[in-house]
Amino acid sequence: MSIDELLAVNERYLAQFRHGAVPAGTSRGLAVSIVGHPAVDPHRAFGLALGDALLPRSTEPRVTAALRGDLAVAQHLGARQALHVLSTDAPNAPETTETLRADLETLRADPQLFGLDVHVGSYDVTTGRLELVTGVPAESEISAVLAANERYVAQFQPPVDVARGSRHLSVVTCMDSRINPEELLNVDLGTVTVRRNAGAHVTDEVLDGLAGDVAAHGAVDLLVLVHEDCKARPDREERLAGARADGSAAARDPRIGERAEVITGSYDVHTGRLTDLRPAHR
Ligand SMILES: [Zn+2]
Repeated sequence: MSIDELLAVNERYLAQFRHGAVPAGTSRGLAVSIVGHPAVDPHRAFGLALGDALLPRSTEPRVTAALRGDLAVAQHLGARQALHVLSTDAPNAPETTETLRADLETLRADPQLFGLDVHVGSYDVTTGRLELVTGVPAESEISAVLAANERYVAQFQPPVDVARGSRHLSVVTCMDSRINPEELLNVDLGTVTVRRNAGAHVTDEVLDGLAGDVAAHGAVDLLVLVHEDCKARPDREERLAGARADGSAAARDPRIGERAEVITGSYDVHTGRLTDLRPAHR
């Protein structure tokens, strides 16, 4: 997807955008962190609307220090419950359950996260089903997520088989609850990898992941997308300069640059508009 295509998709998104007044933080007191296989659309799969939940995401299939930091920020922004999900094509494998139990211990032992009621589960990318390892608290946001997932499974369409030669899109954006990258960019499961953290930073871990995307897909379009009114990165000048520097760093990385088209953008959560941040378009 070129920048011109992205901007054309955004024009269509703007025409139906009605979410400008959604407040920051989380209206449901919820953070949903997703790690592992990228073929999951959390808004559809877990019944989340804009504003509902902070959504950190990583392709590293485990709880990293960075993810724990993001969940601490989510707690600061109002999350009281956290659902941590390992997305996988092997949900019933013993190592999946083992990983999740270890993740649960790590999260519950983290003093930064003592205010969070943490639950963990696996998401099956072949069926769309979410299964919890922990018990489900009745009439909680967690049980509401599971009920929404039941409905999703009933009409689940497996990820599209990406045609040879079609390009993969990798997105790095903020975990802010007001961004739905799949909807904003109008992309299907299987054609996009989304990574999200507090502030849309391209960290070394993210760079490694992007290099992995390039190796797996041959060529990718890479979108580094910061946003207006970012609670995790409030200084606008620093944020825009940082996004440009991050885009340049990815383009300079010998594992990424030559085989990726790097696009840097900023998304306005109040208007739905995506702005190209490359120097020529300033
Ligand atoms: Zn943000």
